[in-house]
Amino acid sequence: MTERYRVIIVGAGPAGIFAALELTRAGVDGVLLLEKGPDLPERQRLGRGGSMLAGWGGAGAYSDGKLALSTEIGGFMDRYCTPGQLTELVEYVDQTYRTVGAPAGLHGSDTEAVAHLQRQAARFDMKLIPSRYRHLGTEGCEELLGKLRAHLSGVVAVRCGTPVAEVIPGSGNGVGGVRLEDGTAIAAEYVILAPGREGSAWLAREAERLALHTTINPVDIGVRVEVPASVLEEITRATYEAKIIYYTRRFEDMVRTFCMCPHGEVIREDLGGLYTVNGHSYAHRKTANTNFALLVSKTFTEPFREPIAYGQHIARLANMLGGEVIVQRLGDLRQGRRSTPGRIGRGLVEPTLREATPGDLSLVLPYRYLADILEMLEALDRLVPGVNSVHTLLYGVEVKFYSLQLQLGPGLETEIPHLFAVGDGAGVSRGLVQASASGVLAARSIAACVKGAGS
Ligand SMILES: Cc1cc2nc3c(=O)[nH]c(=O)nc-3n(C[C@H](O)[C@H](O)[C@H](O)COP(=O)(O)OP(=O)(O)OC[C@H]3O[C@@H](n4cnc5c(N)ncnc54)[C@H](O)[C@@H]3O)c2cc1C
Repeated sequence: MTERYRVIIVGAGPAGIFAALELTRAGVDGVLLLEKGPDLPERQRLGRGGSMLAGWGGAGAYSDGKLALSTEIGGFMDRYCTPGQLTELVEYVDQTYRTVGAPAGLHGSDTEAVAHLQRQAARFDMKLIPSRYRHLGTEGCEELLGKLRAHLSGVVAVRCGTPVAEVIPGSGNGVGGVRLEDGTAIAAEYVILAPGREGSAWLAREAERLALHTTINPVDIGVRVEVPASVLEEITRATYEAKIIYYTRRFEDMVRTFCMCPHGEVIREDLGGLYTVNGHSYAHRKTANTNFALLVSKTFTEPFREPIAYGQHIARLANMLGGEVIVQRLGDLRQGRRSTPGRIGRGLVEPTLREATPGDLSLVLPYRYLADILEMLEALDRLVPGVNSVHTLLYGVEVKFYSLQLQLGPGLETEIPHLFAVGDGAGVSRGLVQASASGVLAARSIAACVKGAGS
């Protein structure tokens, strides 16, 4: 290996970018950031025609840009830090986004309104988890990640369009570096893996090859719900995004609301030829609708160990029937009939994802998921009248592949010394703030080792 770096970071999403930033702040030099997708200018040129998940900024670049300033939302970092450390990390990450231009305004600060909603939710067997949110908007997110790109250039070596094929073990039991897909080997003392959801299947294969222990996270499968914005106005005004959790009576499964997008748009997500749904909202472009995901969390038990394949299979069924994404009116679903363009046209909610094919989600979702979703909509309707309307639109399917979780130490070090794993791909986070925080935590662990080694 002719090339040698102190630290190699794989993946330039928020986790990888914040790891790079923190290493430079701590004075650690010799950092190389490798990203398989295009750099930001190329990504901007391709726009939505390119990958939504790969490239500078990762999935973060085209995310809805809601920074959840809570230790309870957006990941599992509480497994690796004390509550005090996690609170400090969340504040630290937020401050960093602020220094590159995140807006000052916060949503969810009206504690009295939020407490009122929490009381209401509890009355209907639901738990509302409060959070403060800073909303960058999809366009703001891209802009901030661009500023971070400029900030790092010249300080950290960045190579986009450079997929990493494998981690090279070092002599002894440590890490040696990485091998690129073109066969080039690059040596490093430390490697941080931050491949996000785009690279979660790759990371699963690498974990198996390197004999790293993994546990199975729940797989989240559900639908995206779209209603007139006025229906959710009280909640979105008070909280911007409400995390509401409900346990169904029928199966005792956990169903939760996720990624609420006030006045937003439902979007199609391309997972390498597999189409699922998601949502986002622009800071300045408003629609008449609000959308959110309803996700059923299911942890599979032995002997089944392939939740990613299971989720992909269900998404593929929707693609098979609908071409890509299916949309159905709740009234049609309840009547046991498919939606047609005519029925959607007669509905009171105009779909924001026009390319979705009217169809029948009951032919796609397993009974248990469908029953859970319908029960949750009924429960939610008591808190938010209008959600369970015949006109409500359901898009399918929405799947969250967070299923791999690597066994990690407190500083996010894997069982291989000097090999770290952070962000969504490692099952550590599920959102921008905790993904960024995980990068900071791993970088701080490395900086402490480097200083401890006196070099
Ligand atoms: C449509 C959408 C909306 C969202 N909205 C929000 C929101 O409002 N708020 C929120 O908190 N979160 C949101 N999220 C989630 C958020 O974007 C992610 O939690 C966050 O981006 C995860 O950061 P990450 O760095 O772990 O991974 P990612 O952002 O996924 O980045 C990983 C990077 O690694 C690269 N990579 C993968 N494998 C390799 C390899 N082998 N070699 C080199 N590079 C590789 C990928 O190309 C990618 O660029 C949203 C996500 C989506 C898709």
